[in-house]
Amino acid sequence: MQRRKDVLHGAGGESGDAFRCVGCRMAVSVVAPGTAHRNHCPHCLSSRHVDGRIPGDRASTCGARMAAVSLSARADGEWLLVHECAACGALKANRIAGDDNALALMRIAVRPLADPRPVRRALLVL
Ligand SMILES: [Zn+2]
Ligand SMILES: [Zn+2]
Repeated sequence: MQRRKDVLHGAGGESGDAFRCVGCRMAVSVVAPGTAHRNHCPHCLSSRHVDGRIPGDRASTCGARMAAVSLSARADGEWLLVHECAACGALKANRIAGDDNALALMRIAVRPLADPRPVRRALLVL
């Protein structure tokens, strides 16, 4: 049986204003309400390790999947989503977008912290 290659077809893909989610394969537009450039999937909240020290600098060559591990709130009340890289363990704090999956966010917020270490490390990053 011949499998049709869909690399060149899907809407979005790796083009400039959209990316393919490494978690659920959804085509995600980088334009999102409440944030300058979206770097995580609004559906499953997965991100990708592409940035170095500065969000959006695309300085990292890691490229591995980053899973949302925690939620954090800044003093000004803004909520941040903390991602941990599955390959190198790097932590990133990202602004939540206006259309992020509320249920997925809640799941992370109420998740019992079996290991609080990532959160403490994340607070040092902020
Ligand atoms: Zn996803
Ligand atoms: Zn990494």
